[in-house]
Amino acid sequence: MTRLLVAVLCTAVMSGALSAPAGARSKTGGGGLSVTKAGFGNLPASMGGTAIDRYTLRNSNGMTVSILTYGGIVQQLVAPDRRGRPANVVLGFDSIDGYTSDAYVKSNPYFGAIIGRYGNRIGGAKFTLDGTTFTLDANNNGNTLHGGFKGFDKQVWSAEAVRTFRSVGVKLTRVSADGEGGFPGRLPVTVVYSLDNRNRLQMDYRATTDKPTVVNLTNHAYFNLAGEGSGSIEGHLLRINADRYTPVDAGLIPTGATPPVAGTPFDFRAFTPIGARIRGNDQQLVYGRGYDHNFVLNPNRGHDLNTAAQLVDPGSGRMLTVLTEEPGLQFYSGNFLDGTLYGTSGRQYRQGDGLCLETQHFPDSPNKPGFPSTTLRPGQTYATTTVYAFSTVG
Ligand code: BGC
Repeated sequence: MTRLLVAVLCTAVMSGALSAPAGARSKTGGGGLSVTKAGFGNLPASMGGTAIDRYTLRNSNGMTVSILTYGGIVQQLVAPDRRGRPANVVLGFDSIDGYTSDAYVKSNPYFGAIIGRYGNRIGGAKFTLDGTTFTLDANNNGNTLHGGFKGFDKQVWSAEAVRTFRSVGVKLTRVSADGEGGFPGRLPVTVVYSLDNRNRLQMDYRATTDKPTVVNLTNHAYFNLAGEGSGSIEGHLLRINADRYTPVDAGLIPTGATPPVAGTPFDFRAFTPIGARIRGNDQQLVYGRGYDHNFVLNPNRGHDLNTAAQLVDPGSGRMLTVLTEEPGLQFYSGNFLDGTLYGTSGRQYRQGDGLCLETQHFPDSPNKPGFPSTTLRPGQTYATTTVYAFSTVG
């Protein structure tokens, strides 16, 4: 089954069919789209007791996406398999308590959340911009990870339902104060999640600043295309549109080099089962305890969004295509899931039970002059779009 699917998918790659999801079965056109809002409980009193809402986007193909005002978390994403059967394909919880429990705070996996101000790590928890050095929260072995101790994932966002001719969505806004996490500049941020009848979940990120700063926003959804809580993703097939990647040191900070993936376990240029090489003793896999690396996406030849990656679950036939304007993609194979959390369906999450495909600028760019810049200056608008498109194959 897997071999046959790989052959079919490789043919699709060679015929150039991968600019759009191969074998997509979703209908196009308007209608059947809705967005609803419901209460999702309150944060604990120790976290302010704020009431949290859940917005659910629905389309005419049976796809639904639920988003929380806490962290902008994609709490649930239901997509049909090749026979139209639905499953929730993201890791998460069915109540707010799951996201605020001691076990969750301790393992801190960032399930489904908006990540900011800076997705992934900044080495030494500091950077220098225009001659001034800024000291950030050192929340990960002396480095800054995902914005610091209280990043965008742990903030309450304002929300409103939005509709266009082709989509329904939720618009999340908040203002990150000057100095939040140590980052300079007052930063008003907007993230719009929208769903259409082509089974595309689009994320539009916008931000402005009143002082020179750095910004790198992403989403931290963990996918398991067989359904959350169903076991390992090692049998999923992955293709990443990258000839190069950014190797890291023992603290998972990029060295600054961008070597070719050819001849390494990081060569995902053709569909490859995630588990095929993950247990090898390659030094990079040892550092990451598996895949936890940024890939340098091959530049887009056309004007559309770049196809960053495609992920297929051979069993269900579900396929995820990640499209983006970003230059990088962090492939994280859920290495730090440690069995202490029980998710939406009540099942345990163990190492490798979900994976992230985080579109981004490269980790530690503020300290790496050779990487694409993450600097945002007054008068500029940070604007970037990523799409998670769902389809089926086989
Ligand atoms: C990082 C991992 C980290 C994880 C947190 C990923 O984006 O690359 O190193 O452990 O987020 O769950």
